Amino acid sequence: MPHIAVVPGDGIGNEVIAEGLRVLGAVAPDVTWETFDLGAERYLRDGTTMPPEVMRRWREDFDAVYLGALGDPRVPSNVHARDILLGARFQLDLYINFRPVRLLDSRTCPLKDKAPEDIDFVVFRENTEGLYTGIGGQFKRDTDDEVAIEQEMNTRKGVERIVRAAFAWARQHGKRRVCMSDKANAMRHGHDLWQRVFKAVAADYPEIEARHLYVDVLTMQMVLAPEQFDVIVTNNLFGDIVTDLGAALQGGIGLAASGNLNPGVAALFEPVHGSAPDIAGKGIANPLAAVLSAGMLLGHLGRPQVERRIQDAVQACLRDGRVTRELGGTLTTREVGDAVLDSLGGV
Ligand code: ATP
Repeated sequence: MPHIAVVPGDGIGNEVIAEGLRVLGAVAPDVTWETFDLGAERYLRDGTTMPPEVMRRWREDFDAVYLGALGDPRVPSNVHARDILLGARFQLDLYINFRPVRLLDSRTCPLKDKAPEDIDFVVFRENTEGLYTGIGGQFKRDTDDEVAIEQEMNTRKGVERIVRAAFAWARQHGKRRVCMSDKANAMRHGHDLWQRVFKAVAADYPEIEARHLYVDVLTMQMVLAPEQFDVIVTNNLFGDIVTDLGAALQGGIGLAASGNLNPGVAALFEPVHGSAPDIAGKGIANPLAAVLSAGMLLGHLGRPQVERRIQDAVQACLRDGRVTRELGGTLTTREVGDAVLDSLGGV
């Protein structure tokens, strides 16, 4: 029976994960979970961020991790968030950041005249390399002659595995198009590697249209004609940016779910939004991203029909305006959870 590790975390993480777990329990009663007391409270209490033993257990004893959000103004460095999130990402080698961009209701889309069928693609963001490895340094810091260097790391293995994952997912899900995005015209070493690897991997998937767009063109096209995309694969930095653009297209971070994956080894699912200290404890956070993340988790456990049921229930809530105030509704976090459960009964 599937067993999952749950980290509600900080701020609204606790509130939205509570609703995600209610939904999960309703649609998958055989799934069991263990909640981990990790986050700012724990760090402030006893200095613990991420015990190595917990990481080992996540890898060996659990089918997936379900995480709320980490970040707290009382921990200005957010060292706990770094240790937990980056710790999991690197120690479990979660090299795929998987971000579906799916419009569920045209009213939540900032683009005019776009229907759900126009915005339905996924982004494969490389999650362990690129510009986010911290390689670099500062020289003559705080002087007029200061030099700061941030280096981008691209390895053939790292590029190949994310590109291959994107094509494999496209094939498995009957999608016709994979678009790779880089800036090879300006970044001629690392992104040339992306170009060569992309062409080589694409040759193994002749039935899939392999296309390339520079990232500046990609961002324009995502806004002008998002219907042209099925799968986008890109590096860590560009993925960070285009996935937030994608979240905006689908209705904001209150609706954006994500998976951090290393197929066959580990998987961590979380809403894209952070701990939102400004609204924490008020009961007004939108739990739908957390609910959709729970759906993705179940899809990952081999239950795509259940994931679909959850999406349909969320879609019904949006259609009926049973949403929190940032989406124009009046419901509390808990009431939106009730509405999803109610809709599940009818879908
Ligand atoms: P970080 O991302 O660094 O943890 P954060 O929590 O402030 O920081 P976001 O999660 O990006 O950043 O949120 C930005 C703002 O969007 C929040 O301050 C909040 O006002 C709003 N917001 C985020 N998530 C939700 C949500 N689930 N429901 C309603 N509003 C939200």
